Amino acid sequence: MKAPISEILLAGPRGFCAGVERAIDIVELALSVCRPPIYVRREIVHNRLVVETLRTQGAIFVDELDEVPNDATVIFSAHGIAPEVRQNAERRGLRVIDATCPLVTKVHLEAIRYAREDYSIVLIGHEDHDEVIGTLGEAPERIFVIADVDEVATLEVPNPDKVAYLTQTTLSVDDTRDVIEALRRRFPKIVGPSRNDICYATQNRQAAVKRLANDVDLLLVIGSANSSNAIRLVEVARTVGTRAYLINDLGDIRSEWLDDADRVGITAGASTPEILVTQTVEALRGQGVAVREVHVVEEDVRFALPQELARMAEERGMTLPARTAMRQTI
Ligand code: SF4
Repeated sequence: MKAPISEILLAGPRGFCAGVERAIDIVELALSVCRPPIYVRREIVHNRLVVETLRTQGAIFVDELDEVPNDATVIFSAHGIAPEVRQNAERRGLRVIDATCPLVTKVHLEAIRYAREDYSIVLIGHEDHDEVIGTLGEAPERIFVIADVDEVATLEVPNPDKVAYLTQTTLSVDDTRDVIEALRRRFPKIVGPSRNDICYATQNRQAAVKRLANDVDLLLVIGSANSSNAIRLVEVARTVGTRAYLINDLGDIRSEWLDDADRVGITAGASTPEILVTQTVEALRGQGVAVREVHVVEEDVRFALPQELARMAEERGMTLPARTAMRQTI
């Protein structure tokens, strides 16, 4: 690999957010305290290495609940689920552990509240993303999913004076602001959540990319192709004219990208393990290449584990191991 690089700039914060750490902890803890087999519906988080590592530890990943046998334990992914999935699991008597990120649950609760108050709800997001599919399921007859400003003009709602908006947690902060402004112009009485639904981790990782994008010739974003927040990091860099590529790992780097790259920025989506960043830095840094971290904010967010996990441990006469001991393999 050709590496004519003088400096590597690492975006901070990058990589795992609190919701992803919690979801991985939940699977690892479930594997240690619950009776096997442990099923996980969909990718627990959108990252191939994370999923493969948990699979080797014993987790069985499925797309739908009908692949889960009747007396099994199933974990719902960090992206959240539609209520009908939960009801289906209850009907089947499955033992459920919900790893939905609490910040996604917050959006679900807002959707439920607005639907009860007779609002039409504009959900800004990507209709094929697991999180949006889950939120939509809270009130499918009332929720209208739009992805960009262009869709605002053609939006038809039963009562334009009774409209609310919500957003997917992992969107572009700037694009979402434009869509909300267009919605406000079209529906002057529109209401929204008191605080932005875009999560702290999405905002912080985009802020870090904005800070360093002008100082690098190339930005590598490490993350999976189905990771919404990682894709947004590429877009944020391209918006300011910086060449940016999404890579799963260092094996995806094309040598021609590096030909005229003096300074290279590296960041990682919220579901990307730090080991992939470390490997990429090590592969790129030739002798004497400086590595500098550009840090915009400290993060100290941590979410509590779901109570059902502690209950399951208690039933087996066990206590949950310390969370800091988890994830050593990822
Ligand atoms: S990106 Fe945000 S919403 Fe998604 S899991 Fe992480 S903290 Fe939760």
